Amino acid sequence: MIEQQRKHNFSAGPSILPQEVFRQAADAVLDFNGMGLSLLEISHRSKDFVAVMDEARAIVKRLMNLNDDYEVLFLQGGASLQFVMLPFNLMKKEGGKAAYLDTGVWAAGAIKEAKRFGTVDIVGSSKEENYSFIPKGYTVDPSYDYFHCTSNNTIYGTQMHEFPKVDVPMVCDMSSDIFSEERDYSRFDLIYAGAQKNMGPAGATLVVVKKDILGKTNRDIPSYLDYQLHIKKESMFNTPPVFSVYTSLLTLQYLEKNGGIAAVEKQNKAKAKLLYDEIDRNPNFEGFAKKEDRSLMNVSFLLTDESKKERFDNAWKEAGISGLNGHRTIGGYRASIYNAMPIESVQLLVDVMKSID
Ligand SMILES: *Cc1c(COP(=O)(O)O)cnc(C)c1O
Repeated sequence: MIEQQRKHNFSAGPSILPQEVFRQAADAVLDFNGMGLSLLEISHRSKDFVAVMDEARAIVKRLMNLNDDYEVLFLQGGASLQFVMLPFNLMKKEGGKAAYLDTGVWAAGAIKEAKRFGTVDIVGSSKEENYSFIPKGYTVDPSYDYFHCTSNNTIYGTQMHEFPKVDVPMVCDMSSDIFSEERDYSRFDLIYAGAQKNMGPAGATLVVVKKDILGKTNRDIPSYLDYQLHIKKESMFNTPPVFSVYTSLLTLQYLEKNGGIAAVEKQNKAKAKLLYDEIDRNPNFEGFAKKEDRSLMNVSFLLTDESKKERFDNAWKEAGISGLNGHRTIGGYRASIYNAMPIESVQLLVDVMKSID
């Protein structure tokens, strides 16, 4: 696609990926590794695809700085299936209980599924205030099987900038901020993320798990839902989502080549600052999330004067901006500025916001 036709895509997911990755992925669909075959028609057991899976698993560990206590899996079913796999694999069959932080619709979805398996205690919730902040000051009793949190709340634009110190395995849904900022990933025992927000196309779900937390529930786990089986099969228990795994690998290679997480974090902070500064400066707008909990990935904001809605909507659409509407549950606007979003596109949005001053 020629440059002028390319939209500025602020969609929350599936979302923008680096342009170079789109081109490489398109090439591989037509001819993979010069084999005269498409990536989509070769066996997932072929040498060329096994190499893709091996490298995809390895690069995740390199980027997260994790040692061999951890395993990396590319599964299917999205983050939503992880809501189920987690308690199946981590909550004890007899008297199982887990602590969850309720920070939004996705966290609530995880809670709903976990309740099928045992006791779920909500240690903190911001539901009463429309999930506009991250609860703090809670404690997690060491008697829980695990603690679950959601690092970035895609719909509301809130993000955990600190994680609690807990004496139980810490599980985190990082679907919408995975690889966006440096974290001590070794503090987590299980991390999961649907690929389609910041890593690749829909289809693959990344699971990073510390092996020693598994095998303790005494449950009879169905094969596909058993992390230990996937580990044993090196993430090839059944046919993996080959296109999503390959394109995720391309995105992660692009990230590594361009300075890794530290470099992209710097850009993400600059982009977020640019946009939040305008929201705070311009009396036509107000931010949705509590300032200290603002997300670097999803910037949600509202118009202070609804009569300007038509003017603003026309202005951003005319500027070639797409995907700016807020989630239906909170309305307003949401600019998703994931890793691949260029700062020039954020500047364009800011210019449009200034123009309705
Ligand atoms: C999008 C999203 C989900 C749902 O992901 P699926 O892969 O569609 O199941 C879960 N959690 C968070 C934080 C999300 O942003």
